[in-house]
Amino acid sequence: MKCFFHPEVPAIGVCKYCQRGLCLDCAAIVDDVVACKHRHENEVQQLGQLAARNLFQSKRVSSAYMRNAIFYGLVGVLFAGFGLVQYRFLGLQAMFFMMIGLFLLYAAGANYFEGRKHK
Ligand SMILES: [Zn+2]
Ligand SMILES: [Zn+2]
Repeated sequence: MKCFFHPEVPAIGVCKYCQRGLCLDCAAIVDDVVACKHRHENEVQQLGQLAARNLFQSKRVSSAYMRNAIFYGLVGVLFAGFGLVQYRFLGLQAMFFMMIGLFLLYAAGANYFEGRKHK
């Protein structure tokens, strides 16, 4: 491949933004990637920042799911345990607590698996 701006000079890299071949004079290194010097340096830098931000966001989403899973799990165990202990005294009402507990445990599991997917 030859440089897009100097057809007689062999290219040493390709701009990440416009995919053109670049010689040593035309190439600029931005965050370890090649960009057209004075043309697409900013664009390539923004591309890199965008990718980094996406990575950060998916990590944040994953930890949010894990937090939810722990929260639902704890509250679910609390409700289910309460219903179990109170069953003798409350009867049907205790069943209601157990149902809520089971539902919360289910939500905890769903959040846990959703969080794993985002890792
Ligand atoms: Zn060139
Ligand atoms: Zn370019």
